[in-house]
Amino acid sequence: MIASSPPPQVPPTAIDPRSALVVFSGGQDSTACLAWALQRFAHVETIGFDYGQRHQVELSCREPIRQALVQTFPQWGTKLGQDHLLDLRLLGQISDTALTESRAIEMQSNGLPNTFVPGRNLLFLNFAASVAYRRGLSVLVGGMCETDYSGYPDCRDNTLKALQVAMSLGLDTPMTVETPLMWLTKSQTWALTEALGGQALNELIVEHTHTCYLGDRTHRHPWGYGCGTCPACQLRAEGHAQWLAQR
Ligand code: ZN
Repeated sequence: MIASSPPPQVPPTAIDPRSALVVFSGGQDSTACLAWALQRFAHVETIGFDYGQRHQVELSCREPIRQALVQTFPQWGTKLGQDHLLDLRLLGQISDTALTESRAIEMQSNGLPNTFVPGRNLLFLNFAASVAYRRGLSVLVGGMCETDYSGYPDCRDNTLKALQVAMSLGLDTPMTVETPLMWLTKSQTWALTEALGGQALNELIVEHTHTCYLGDRTHRHPWGYGCGTCPACQLRAEGHAQWLAQR
């Protein structure tokens, strides 16, 4: 019989009695947000969007990540509720980007990468708010970040604060938008997850989350799987290296 090790110690904090819905893609950032929410809120559900991504790899990582979190952190497992996966493939009809078409990722003349789906995060959060309302959840958690946000204007703090006000008015109920990564660098995101769940959580993130734009799950690096050369891989690798250097 194999002796099981005790679950990693998670620092105790006061539990926020509200229920949260985490926009959960299966990537590093949204997994950090999910851990952050599980630490903080009494009940947490997840939502993902199938918008015709060129690769389904990230979406296929979602359920294994949820299961690994429950197994590794039983104290979080009791709080983790339903997962919701919405079919938003209509986004493919109104966008022309490298994520949804077989085109190379490149910078456009307006300074945004052509992976940009205009207003994508606004759309996602509005759909999330509708689901949250019906489920009795009053906090939306997303991994939007101004620090290295690739120029996406719908990731800006002011955009999301304005959206919070609009949604709370439009639904006539408080709908708080939390963005725990807003001012963190990628290096600080690794530090955050280490603080939340120790080495076990960062190992889980390395092994199970996916970031690579090209959908590469064959090359394993110290920071996880990916091609190692696309912008998403480079960002993740640099953040991981900086985090290791600063520990
Ligand atoms: Zn890559």
